Amino acid sequence: MTLSVDLAPSTGARAVPARCRICSGQLSRSFALCYCCDTLVGQLQMPLVPVVAMVEYRLGDPLHHRLRGYKDAPVAEVRDRYRDELVTMATRWLHHHHRQLGRRFGSDWDAVATVPSSRRPGRAPADVIVTRVPVLGALHRPLLIRGRGCTDHLRADRLGFELAPGVDHRRLRTLRVLLVDDSVVTGARAQSAAASLRLGGAQVVGVLALGRAVRPEGGGTPAGSRW
Ligand SMILES: [Zn+2]
Repeated sequence: MTLSVDLAPSTGARAVPARCRICSGQLSRSFALCYCCDTLVGQLQMPLVPVVAMVEYRLGDPLHHRLRGYKDAPVAEVRDRYRDELVTMATRWLHHHHRQLGRRFGSDWDAVATVPSSRRPGRAPADVIVTRVPVLGALHRPLLIRGRGCTDHLRADRLGFELAPGVDHRRLRTLRVLLVDDSVVTGARAQSAAASLRLGGAQVVGVLALGRAVRPEGGGTPAGSRW
């Protein structure tokens, strides 16, 4: 796996390669946003929030197995082992990068929400990790549920998620929310979740993902995405 610690947004100074202002993904030309982020802006009709990934992965590598296996492995002991390894990774990463993350997002946060599954009902898969990482779990709030809209790897929808029953709207308007997901490919699901919170009145400071799929060396794309 490759540590993804480039938290700084790209600047006017033309560093090569240029980076997307939202996701820090590599740009082939000097646009402000990558193709994916530009597409999501058009679908959501609102600005996006910045996305930071702790670690980048490629399909089939050990981190990819952990990010899938902690929720999908058929054996409970394997799911638990992958979960514990991801908890350890996230705890260590935040210990070293917490302040840097606040600078990247331009704000600290006072609540942590997770992105629900768009396929399965119930709690967000990442809850089992977030609630075990001390600096995240202490602020964790179950703010979102799956909505009636449809989201996919390159399909964002304001209705993809909605506020969970019982969320206090007046309280929500006072919150600065860090949105956490296990993995991002294009950010479509995370940005849809962020849109729901923002339309509900919350300030979403950014999306923190444990892992981000990257393009294989020499071309190609992560499964399900188009660049
Ligand atoms: Zn981008």
